Amino acid sequence: MPAPLFLRDAPPLPIDDAPLPTRIDVAIVGGGIAGIATALWLARAGVGVLVLEAERVAARASGRNDGQMLLGLGEHYNRIVGQLGRERARLLWDYIRRNNQAMKDEIGFSELACDLVPAGGLRLAVSEHEQRELEEASALMREDGIAHELLPAADVERVLPAARGFFGVLRLPGEAIVQPAAMVRGFARRAREAGARIVEAAAVTAVEPEAEGSRITLADGRSLRCAFVVHCTSTLARELDGSGFLRAQVFPFRGQIHATAELPEALAAQFPPCAMSTHFCYEYFRCYRQRFVVGGMRWSVPGEQLGILDDSRHDERVAANLRAFVDRHFPALARQPFAEQWTGIMAGTADALPLLGALPGRPGVFALLGFNGYGLSFAFQAGRSLAEIIVEGKASHPMVASFAPRRFA
Ligand SMILES: Cc1cc2nc3c(=O)[nH]c(=O)nc-3n(C[C@H](O)[C@H](O)[C@H](O)COP(=O)(O)OP(=O)(O)OC[C@H]3O[C@@H](n4cnc5c(N)ncnc54)[C@H](O)[C@@H]3O)c2cc1C
Repeated sequence: MPAPLFLRDAPPLPIDDAPLPTRIDVAIVGGGIAGIATALWLARAGVGVLVLEAERVAARASGRNDGQMLLGLGEHYNRIVGQLGRERARLLWDYIRRNNQAMKDEIGFSELACDLVPAGGLRLAVSEHEQRELEEASALMREDGIAHELLPAADVERVLPAARGFFGVLRLPGEAIVQPAAMVRGFARRAREAGARIVEAAAVTAVEPEAEGSRITLADGRSLRCAFVVHCTSTLARELDGSGFLRAQVFPFRGQIHATAELPEALAAQFPPCAMSTHFCYEYFRCYRQRFVVGGMRWSVPGEQLGILDDSRHDERVAANLRAFVDRHFPALARQPFAEQWTGIMAGTADALPLLGALPGRPGVFALLGFNGYGLSFAFQAGRSLAEIIVEGKASHPMVASFAPRRFA
């Protein structure tokens, strides 16, 4: 499979091949959005920090996702309220809103070239049932002061001219789209400017507890010591946590994306430049530089792509079902074959919330992972929260207590 589109279009970081330090305050294993965000905030707090990334920064899910900065996860607000209760649902929304705002501010302030379009998002109802749930969500959001607009089926074509067969649409003005690989590599450059070391081609093979911190060993035999270590390897290196906690609490699942070649201008203009999804976000789509990019349908095959760790190939059955989805809902694209496909591995947890904080019974060992397919909604702010925990002993946002790994202990 050729390199995924967003990774191909994102300039890599300059190589750092200086010798590793023998000791560092904080070692972060994994250079996706979680590891890079944590490094950025720690470096800005004056902490000595080193990221060890097995491949290139953003090589895995962080450079292979759809770049949708969503609010409130895939579940509509009524379902979030149902799962968490009203107060925690409000807190979760506030946390994600702050995350998205902080990312937009950082991109603007740092002048990162990453195709950010802060034009909001559309949640389309794929069935009458989903539209009824959007109505329930809308009523709760209105009471909680969350900006949105709910439109009936008759108005869908006005906001998304190419769309057919949807039952209504919820507009969320705070959402955005971005080129994810370019964004994360941009954050990595800023982290370096703040003093972080980010070393690529540095696969970690062991993290062992010592009297004062941890000893880290790399596949090429290099090693170093650190006071604190942070696991930011999603579900890709659970064995590095010798306690078995991560293996027990985090599970992999694979997502698949396809992109057309560049569309004729008039056709591309039928898609607004914003985040779009349907079917409770199981299917998601957007335009990127005049290509139509669509993902989802993992639910449509036996096993739902759960437990898969191989992102070097795609599933033809998922491809066929995504093709049928596009032809049904966007007939204007029927003559536009998929020109690209790629997959990426995500990390799930039992309650669909991330793990952020100290691992139970492992002093000095932290994790930030398990975003359940919504890493762009959490990870930037979550890196800041984790930096607060490491530097000040406590995170400032009350929602962070709900992300503590000890909830599963
Ligand atoms: C198809 C798809 C579509 C998605 N769409 C969206 C979306 O639109 N919006 C959204 O919010 N989220 C989306 N996501 C989810 C999002 O991409 C993830 O939640 C997020 O990227 C996770 O970031 P991470 O840093 O935890 O993990 P990753 O990006 O997977 O990073 C983990 C890093 O650890 C490194 N690593 C692994 N083992 C080792 C080791 N032994 N030593 C050193 N390094 C190691 C890996 O190389 C990797 O770079 C999507 C995901 C996929 C796959």
